[in-house]
Amino acid sequence: MSKKYITTIGLEVHVELNTKSKMFCGCQNDPHAAEANSLTCPVCLAHPGTLPVANTEAIAKVMMFGEAVGATRASYSEFDRKNYFYPDIPKAYQISQYAFPFLRGGFINNVELTRVHLEEDTARSQHDHPGISLVDFNRAGVPLMELVTEPVIHDSKTAVDFARELQLLLRTIGISSAQMEKGEMRVEANISVSDTDELGVKVEVKNLNSFRSVENAIAYEVDRQINLREKGVVVSQETRGWDEVKQRTFSQRTKETAKDYRYFPDPDLPRMNLEQSTHHSKSRMNEIIPKLPSKKRLEYENIGIKSSQVEVIICNQKIDKYFSSLIDILGNDIASLKLAANYLTSDVLAELDETSDNEIVLTPANFAELMLMTSTSLINSRIAKDLLKELLFVDGNPHKLASERGILQSSDPAQLQTLIDEVIWKNQQVVSEYYAGKESSVQYLIGQAMKMSKGAANPGKLASLFKTALERSRPS
Ligand SMILES: [Zn+2]
Repeated sequence: MSKKYITTIGLEVHVELNTKSKMFCGCQNDPHAAEANSLTCPVCLAHPGTLPVANTEAIAKVMMFGEAVGATRASYSEFDRKNYFYPDIPKAYQISQYAFPFLRGGFINNVELTRVHLEEDTARSQHDHPGISLVDFNRAGVPLMELVTEPVIHDSKTAVDFARELQLLLRTIGISSAQMEKGEMRVEANISVSDTDELGVKVEVKNLNSFRSVENAIAYEVDRQINLREKGVVVSQETRGWDEVKQRTFSQRTKETAKDYRYFPDPDLPRMNLEQSTHHSKSRMNEIIPKLPSKKRLEYENIGIKSSQVEVIICNQKIDKYFSSLIDILGNDIASLKLAANYLTSDVLAELDETSDNEIVLTPANFAELMLMTSTSLINSRIAKDLLKELLFVDGNPHKLASERGILQSSDPAQLQTLIDEVIWKNQQVVSEYYAGKESSVQYLIGQAMKMSKGAANPGKLASLFKTALERSRPS
């Protein structure tokens, strides 16, 4: 490469909001309903004479998002018609927002947002039957939040980190499940490459339905544009798709401009003055927004939880909820909370992953007791692991269970001494090897004592007591 190129990326993300009903009619909002065209009505099928009514729950969810990212709310807003013809858009226009989006500005991961607006989703076309195309209108009219970032991203990793943090935020405030593979969160990247101070020609890459495809598509597209420039070929402004199988972008169409869509305010929907709506007021939003990921990160790290574990906890809603109950119970017991974070992000996570519908049945109070028993050496970590596995999906009091089974760890020197005497007496051969200089024989003896106590003996105590006992009887 002879020149130095600067990559500039802006992202556009569409998010399906999880409202009960669709954006402008009363149909159930379930774009993944099994039976095609089962959730439709004259409004979302655009029969003549029908009128849309804006879904206030969807608007509230956009406003919640605005508070979460620190965006500026529009005092005045309206819906516009975006005109274009396509089989998946029954009205031949999409109700969207143009000049007056609900939100402007705000930040996610230090990436500035340009705007956030609300629109309706299109129907879903299916081309998997030879010779015919089918359209499923269950998705037509589903509330879709679109956010656009400033072109301030310069590499694919930053783009992926932004998308991950956005997904986490959407899930945390509970406005979308944001599953990319289901199309609930769709990322598009506007990518340009330049060797001067001015931005290069912008190419839009669509169909990015996983974090990996966001990363790979950007890397591919940057290479493609640089190669064209190196050959002296002009990069054309266009929309490209991402081929997951071939791992490359391909031309779909030349990009329409805003002019092509002939936007104008939708005369069927009222203008909105959000300042006057108590349902959408700033104070109400702040009341209903749960604790944000950035705040949780800080709290968990202050407890002393490793940052890699913090990410695992806050990205898994079940585990995060459980962990915050444990904080309430264990309070300032940092040792037990750190242990809890270890078990939750390894053993518990593994059990939850196998079948995603699994719920932890063990109450946080009993879980907390198990952690306390472990951090105070009442049981060792091996037994804690086994008890956790046994109780996770049935519940039960770990202390009661351990004492019934006689597996509460013993640090009582008298009890341990009896055990040690017995082990030494039964393993004379190993003992003589120890005296002959094989120090590691002690480990075998500790193992035997652990076995005889069913794991209840404290291995640390055993080690020192064995050494003392053996040295006391060393043949001179
Ligand atoms: Zn409908």
